Amino acid sequence: MQSFERMIDFRSDTVTQPTIDMRSAMASAQVGDDVYGEDPTVNELEALAARVSGKESAIFVASGTQSNLLALLVHCERGDEYIVGQQGHTYKYEGGGAAVLGSIQPQPLDYEHDGTLRLESVASAIKPDDPHFARTRLLCLENTQAGQPLPIEYLKEAGDFCDDTGLSLHLDGARLFNASIALNVDVKTITQYFDTISICLSKGLGAPVGSVLCGPQGLIGKARRWRKMLGGGMRQAGILAAAGIYALENHIDRLQEDHARATKLSDTLKALNHPKVTVSKSLTNMVFLSFKGVEASDVAKKLKDKNILITPGKSVRLVTHLDLSDDDIDVFITELTAALN
Ligand SMILES: *Cc1c(COP(=O)(O)O)cnc(C)c1O
Repeated sequence: MQSFERMIDFRSDTVTQPTIDMRSAMASAQVGDDVYGEDPTVNELEALAARVSGKESAIFVASGTQSNLLALLVHCERGDEYIVGQQGHTYKYEGGGAAVLGSIQPQPLDYEHDGTLRLESVASAIKPDDPHFARTRLLCLENTQAGQPLPIEYLKEAGDFCDDTGLSLHLDGARLFNASIALNVDVKTITQYFDTISICLSKGLGAPVGSVLCGPQGLIGKARRWRKMLGGGMRQAGILAAAGIYALENHIDRLQEDHARATKLSDTLKALNHPKVTVSKSLTNMVFLSFKGVEASDVAKKLKDKNILITPGKSVRLVTHLDLSDDDIDVFITELTAALN
């Protein structure tokens, strides 16, 4: 087996390796043909995801992109429209899939600083029932949004708003559990306001592959049909679902550790008061840095020589996760300071 030098990787919480125990759960999973509905481990994961999210039903899919796409396809038809954040993952980072594959028009709006979409702005973006316009069908929120958990009070308002206006409400909850852990609420406190919720198992939860879309039985049934059409019907997928079950059973509470490390990272860097770096406050597992008088790409190069990975950009997003320790945070702070001086 080839061995790789270990990197301290802050680029994303998607970079984690499955733990030994997760791998052993995968290796011993009972499997069957899931397209026939006969994989007991996939069925167990879907039942667990439905229970945890407080929804009737759930479907296991290959990725968060596929899960969000299925949601858009079940809520909207050709010529319909959904309202979404300008920086929303479904709009900006999923290849325009809803438009390409669903003929669904996005109506992006700017996020507020707290990651919410102002409901007054959403209201004015809803098109009148008139053949000039696409039919506005769905509001899509993201939680966490850029590492920020959306306020519960806002979610309630958004839920009421959608009830009043007849829009459906979808949550891109790629990092839903980071939000619930940060706010110290049961995840159902968040999910109760949404018709459908997409949850990534392969981010902070540490599974190698997969997402779940949760919602009412009818919509999830429709999603199952779309998943097959998109080529997402997997066979002995229980091998992968086992990792998802393991993650939901063992890796939710520990997100607190990731949040504590992100807070420590942010607080320590802020306290340094270095003239070349501005540091955001961390609310979950993300810290954003911006550099002054030094190129982020040069900083990234210097850090890479020290086996530290970051993604350079105007704003550098650092993400804490399962494979980063307290020592790694300390090493990063030391090496970043050295790279800036
Ligand atoms: C990662 C992510 C997704 C999509 O997940 P993939 O599994 O990478 O397709 C969706 N929404 C948000 C907010 C994400 O961070």
